[in-house]
Amino acid sequence: MEDLLIPSAMHRVRPPISRFPVGAVGLGESGRVYVGVNLDFLGAPLSQAVHAEQFLIANVAAVGEPVLRIIAVSHMPCDHCRQFLQEIRGAAGIRILVTSDAADGCAAEWRTLASLLPRPFGPHDLLPKDAPLVLEPHDSRLDASSRGRNHRPRTTPPPPWMHRSCKRQQ
Ligand SMILES: [Zn+2]
Repeated sequence: MEDLLIPSAMHRVRPPISRFPVGAVGLGESGRVYVGVNLDFLGAPLSQAVHAEQFLIANVAAVGEPVLRIIAVSHMPCDHCRQFLQEIRGAAGIRILVTSDAADGCAAEWRTLASLLPRPFGPHDLLPKDAPLVLEPHDSRLDASSRGRNHRPRTTPPPPWMHRSCKRQQ
């Protein structure tokens, strides 16, 4: 997978600020393959760049793929992406291949997220076990359909684990 798809993904990177191209491909439980690339935006701070791994996970989530099995990425995931992966249920089981290992003189090896993120902190530390995570269906309470034009707030209360960070001023 990585030999064919990482070079293809690398054609789609857009890092005009960092000039550090990163491509990622992932294999879901369904057998579908997903792609992610890094994107920098001219005129925006580099902190607003989209990392390849995060782009990949957004693609996986967009189609409702419930489980991500494998990721191949052109460079070692940064700490932010390691934490982003940690937000997926079963993250410890995701196998990760870093294709730049060979260029760096290292033997290619399958890693686990646990090996890249020791002593992780994540949803298991903050939320009930049944709270939906990144790749799981959840109700954001937003209605983007045409019915939403005459939007009325839902009358059901938010689940207890959903905290509101501020109150609207009257
Ligand atoms: Zn990253």
